[in-house]
Amino acid sequence: MSLLAIKLEERITDKAIRDHIHPDSKALVLFSGGMDSTVALYLASKKFSLHVSIVDYKHPTQSKMEAKAIDDICKKLELERYSIDYPEIRFTPGLGSEEVIHLGEANSLYYAIAGSLAVRIGARYIIGGTIKNDWYGSSTPQASPKHFSTLNMLLRREYGKNAPLIITPLLYLDKKQVAVLGHILGVPFDMTRSCPKEGVNPCGKCSYCLKRSDALLYLDGFLRDATKFKSLENS
Ligand SMILES: [Zn+2]
Repeated sequence: MSLLAIKLEERITDKAIRDHIHPDSKALVLFSGGMDSTVALYLASKKFSLHVSIVDYKHPTQSKMEAKAIDDICKKLELERYSIDYPEIRFTPGLGSEEVIHLGEANSLYYAIAGSLAVRIGARYIIGGTIKNDWYGSSTPQASPKHFSTLNMLLRREYGKNAPLIITPLLYLDKKQVAVLGHILGVPFDMTRSCPKEGVNPCGKCSYCLKRSDALLYLDGFLRDATKFKSLENS
């Protein structure tokens, strides 16, 4: 893709989002410490000029390094942070001892709780880092544009005029475009963590690692081309 195409895509995304966003409003960013939600965070803060807090979920499957990425980025940007223990269910079969049931992660649950929190703290927007690769061509609809408009409809029904609006500014960008956008915004990619495995270094083999390295390789190539382009322009 050419530099021009990326600029154009960025402008389109910006325009669509800006039309609905009032700068200086309060926003809650759903944050995982990964590449996509960090780009969404920088976009909300730097481009949309929102007063950003983050909300993160502590889930039993979260690795220590994912938790560390959230801590580190929060400290770097001096952000207000709301941490939520992902719900777990206590079950007592008959007179037996208590069992704990861990629920699977579900998009609707994440946003329902974040919606209630946003109302409580007066946040006008909830920002999510979902990207095109999360839903396009997928048979599961829980990250699709339609799913988010349904969630917004439910929030309006629940909270009326106080309802926060869910915004997913990266929804139509693929991971490579997200990497380029992140670079433009100054996202510290080395502080983010996409690999869900334990261990200081990412495993380099899981699907999250592969998609991430693919996107960052593309960014490298893009930057080399951009430099070439610039030197031609200046010559
Ligand atoms: Zn990995």
